[in-house]
Amino acid sequence: LAGSLAACSSERDTGSGGGATDGASGSTEDTTVGIAMPTKSLERWNRDGAHLEELLKDAGYETSLQYADNKVDQQITQIENMINQGADILVIASIDGTALAPTLQQAADQGIKVIAYDRLINDTPNVDYYATFDNYGVGKMQGEFIVDALKLDTGAGPFNLEPFAGSPDDNNAKFFFAGAWDVLKPYVDKGQLVVPSGKAPASDDDWASIGVQGWSSDTAQSEMENRLNSFYSGGTKVNVVLSPNDSLALGIAQALEGAGYAPGPDYPVLTGQDADKANVLNMIAGKQSMSVWKDTRALGDQVAKMVDQIVKGETVEVNDEKTYDNGEKVVPTYLLPPQVITPDNVQVLVDSGFYTAADLGL
Ligand code: BGC
Repeated sequence: LAGSLAACSSERDTGSGGGATDGASGSTEDTTVGIAMPTKSLERWNRDGAHLEELLKDAGYETSLQYADNKVDQQITQIENMINQGADILVIASIDGTALAPTLQQAADQGIKVIAYDRLINDTPNVDYYATFDNYGVGKMQGEFIVDALKLDTGAGPFNLEPFAGSPDDNNAKFFFAGAWDVLKPYVDKGQLVVPSGKAPASDDDWASIGVQGWSSDTAQSEMENRLNSFYSGGTKVNVVLSPNDSLALGIAQALEGAGYAPGPDYPVLTGQDADKANVLNMIAGKQSMSVWKDTRALGDQVAKMVDQIVKGETVEVNDEKTYDNGEKVVPTYLLPPQVITPDNVQVLVDSGFYTAADLGL
């Protein structure tokens, strides 16, 4: 792995978008990388943290990996400790993307470079790079999956839709929603998709009104139960649920099950994201229709490469320098491609080594 990092750094001129050159130059042994992750409660962040830490350690870096139990104050304290303990580079998957500006000012004062990991950090000039998946593309894939599954482009419908959005404090959530809603809204306007609960944002900008704080499965479950109890009495059935990710989809599937929806042709189309193990098992069992897989190993690889390029004073590879304006600056970004997983192609996850066949009971 150390070899592959070294090899990566020689590819520094292959980035399509250029990027900035930092004055930093040093050696891996002298460099400490603080890695701040949001929570251990969601499978993906455990994988993210472990993979990135392993890559960096193998390349000779000192690392400090911390998880903050989805608590903003805890994450701030952890980052402050990393700064005080001499971190040179911070890699941060933020909990609240708007809460870190004062902390990152302290980092900048010490010359520490900051990479936003997966989630953008807003309202501060002190974020140097961002690496993530194409977040708008994730939502678009969910929307397009729904269009195909219900054959909306043939004029089919009306179908009952219940849309959900992600955590209002997560900058990604608005991109996920916008990607999906830009595809689905025309069908809502034409009456092919009907939202019995009325929880259909008038525009992309109103997404937070249906956001689920902290991406909580339990909150999603109770919200779905409320909608089913209040708007689906008397035989009305829900046909499709737009869920932005797998943690919400798990709660929504529970609510559906509790209301008597069983796998089969009448089970609602239910979207997700992350290809978490529990959700892949649900897909195989007919309780979820798709998930958008983001190979978190590729994100870790890219971020480890960024760290290496920063430390060696090389040009940092980015491929998007227009999309992610954090309110203070457009942050140079590396975007990775997501991929749709359905019950028909879960084998992709095994072939790539993301899961073993035994993990998925295959
Ligand atoms: C990530 C998703 C994840 C969600 C909840 C988002 O920022 O991009 O992959 O499902 O947070 O943790």
